[in-house]
Amino acid sequence: MCGVPHHSSETYIARLVDAGYKVAICEQLEESGKGKTLVKREVTRVVTPGTNVDDAAAEEHYIAGVGLSEYFYIVTYLNVSTGDIYSLKVPKETSALIGELSTSNVKEIVVGHSFEEDYIKHYTDHEGILVSIHASTDIDAVFSHLYEHLPTPHEQKCVRRLLSYVEKTQKRTLLHLKKAERIEATQTMRMDANTIRHLEILRTMIKDQERGSLFWLLNHTKTAMGGRFLKRQLLRPLLNASVLNTRYDFLDALNKEFITKDELGELLKNVYDLERIVGRISYGNANGKDLLRLRKSLSVLPDFRRHLQSLELEYATFLAESIDSLADLHQELEKALKDEQPMTIREGNMFKEGFDETLDELRVVHLDVNEWLKNLEKEEREKTGVKKLKVGYNRVFGYYIEVPKGQVRNIKDEHGYTRKQTLVNAERYITEELKEKERIILSSEEKSVQREYDLFIELRDKIRDKIPILQKNAEILAEVDMFTALSTASEKLDLVRPVLTEEPVIDIRDSRHVVVEKVMEDPFVPNDIRMDDKTDILLITGPNMSGKSTYMRQLALTAILAQIGSFVPARSARLPVFDQLFTRIGASDDLISGKSTFMVEMLDANHALQNATEKSLILFDEIGRGTSTYDGMALAQAIIEYIHAKIGAKTLFSTHYHELTDLEDHLPRLQNIHVTAEEEGDTIKFHHKVEPGRAKSSYGINVAALAKLPKSLIKRSSDILAALEDDGKKPGLPGGHDLFSLATVEAEEEEAHPYDEIIAAIESMDPDEMKPIDALMALYKLKEELKNRK
Ligand code: ADP
Ligand code: MG
Repeated sequence: MCGVPHHSSETYIARLVDAGYKVAICEQLEESGKGKTLVKREVTRVVTPGTNVDDAAAEEHYIAGVGLSEYFYIVTYLNVSTGDIYSLKVPKETSALIGELSTSNVKEIVVGHSFEEDYIKHYTDHEGILVSIHASTDIDAVFSHLYEHLPTPHEQKCVRRLLSYVEKTQKRTLLHLKKAERIEATQTMRMDANTIRHLEILRTMIKDQERGSLFWLLNHTKTAMGGRFLKRQLLRPLLNASVLNTRYDFLDALNKEFITKDELGELLKNVYDLERIVGRISYGNANGKDLLRLRKSLSVLPDFRRHLQSLELEYATFLAESIDSLADLHQELEKALKDEQPMTIREGNMFKEGFDETLDELRVVHLDVNEWLKNLEKEEREKTGVKKLKVGYNRVFGYYIEVPKGQVRNIKDEHGYTRKQTLVNAERYITEELKEKERIILSSEEKSVQREYDLFIELRDKIRDKIPILQKNAEILAEVDMFTALSTASEKLDLVRPVLTEEPVIDIRDSRHVVVEKVMEDPFVPNDIRMDDKTDILLITGPNMSGKSTYMRQLALTAILAQIGSFVPARSARLPVFDQLFTRIGASDDLISGKSTFMVEMLDANHALQNATEKSLILFDEIGRGTSTYDGMALAQAIIEYIHAKIGAKTLFSTHYHELTDLEDHLPRLQNIHVTAEEEGDTIKFHHKVEPGRAKSSYGINVAALAKLPKSLIKRSSDILAALEDDGKKPGLPGGHDLFSLATVEAEEEEAHPYDEIIAAIESMDPDEMKPIDALMALYKLKEELKNRK
């Protein structure tokens, strides 16, 4: 057993919850009175990691419900502090579920009894997520509007279970919960957690910090709500071109009417986190400071509307008209609240004079008393002849009459003084008269504090009725905040309005990677990215450090920006709307995860190949790098051929296997491009310029020289290379894998014995030694080969 001071309990609770515990708060519910031996106590709330709303500084986090249907996992997210609920489905694969859960900051997962916790245990342990089992799905009927629009019973049940858990632990009716928003794969661009990480959308890979991420670069929002809105967009970009064009129009208008934009920005600076304030009001832990913030936020609404309307834009007008500035409520808050508010609602001093008559009367008693005390001091001085006599008050001893030590002999019995406290240089006394007055004072003070408390609850309940309106306003403020932020970004980063195409063509002139550009000292070299409707795959070669990865990522970031409604970093940009985005960064580039074995690389590749459509964008950066050269090259080629034949997604594929550039002769929808570099003696100069065709060589030795390896070593490696190139011979090929590069030597061998090679290849394979993915690839290749022979 241990104890902590009551007033610092929050810190300790937060620490326990952080450590993955749940904390039950038990409170005394009645006053202990005379003759009463037992007082009622009850658990008033259970604080759990997913439902903790006390820590205002904490990052936005969710509690998630996970359920099952025949083919899907059902996931529900709830943000208890803002009241947002999201519902979605993912395919019934553990990796898909974990991928989905790791896109959001989940602190706790609620599941039913039948859920196999073991499947996700490794993940939840690793991430420190608490899994709570909660059987009941019963909830109050007042909540039915939150989920009854969801199309399947499974989805409804998942929301119900989560709500039931929240109700059971929080023990209060939460009025700020919003109708569950259904997130459909068909409405947003899907990216898995790896892609989000690799593209450094919210955090950087190396230091895992916000600084240096795309979000960091764009986040010129003025409110916490706007920041969250932007984050949500970045995680789930849109697919609807007409919505996106409306957003571009909005940015155009703000860019043009920059004074209006600045005005809107200034007003937004006065807006507090309404979503969280509303959450606290609903939760019952709002204080005077919260209402003051609400008052200030409401005060800007009329001007905000006016400025929005002045943009003379259909959508801006629509938003303006959807704002309800709640003038009556604002006026009442103005009348009620003092401009300074205490931390708690139990200490009074919240309400202005003239707001409530009863309160004013109680306060008058208090005022009178002060006058009376002054008089008392004067009278007692005269009576006793002690000039330095004082009447004072302290928290522990209450009211007293203080007489300096030297004068104590002047106090006679007939004065009616009783000694109360002895100080070093004074004595303190009390009289019957003063004691009586003390009682009056304290009780009037107690009454006025109680009165203020009651008034506060009344006011709070009045605001509760307006929660849906406040939430609607909050949403509009957040969205406009994002628009002004994106408009500011477009100015600062020199962005251009993209054109969304119906056809599968990409034509981006002078494209840039905004984040690399921002953090780099040297000027960034812009490059065109072009793919016509007859090109699906760009095969990118070039030396290490030349800019292959940067080039690929800048296309992905451009697509994401375009699909959240932002302008993009280029001189001009035409691109289609992508339904999904896949990235796989070759194992040795994947610095952080550590877990990135070759297997993970293949799993990611498989995920992309299984799910991509012809409307998707795939970035494969040096895939196959995690295994031996010939394995890697073979797989890379097979993957390219597969995408070419079966998927038709727009694909950027960078590789250090120069041999792959020959594929251009066989695959009509593939084009070689390369990043230029120039030999300078032993070393190399990077131009970072992307041009058509294949790279001349891989310049590996030049890069090594740049890294200042010993001169003699560099010389020796150049000699070896020259010898190898003279022979036209590469190190021995293992027979079984030779098959994979058949496509390139096909022509010469057409005549001979059509099936011999295939038979030889099968013979040379050892299934016991092959990884499943290798076996699958080999089988696929064999069939392909067989088809070609026929
Ligand atoms: P690769 O993938 O070819 O090894 P990266 O894309 O990782 O090369 O780029 C290496 C470095 O080169 C980057 O960190 C950046 O500093 C610089 N760089 C890349 N592209 C450009 C560019 N277009 N303009 C200027 N510098 C660039
Ligand atoms: Mg790279």
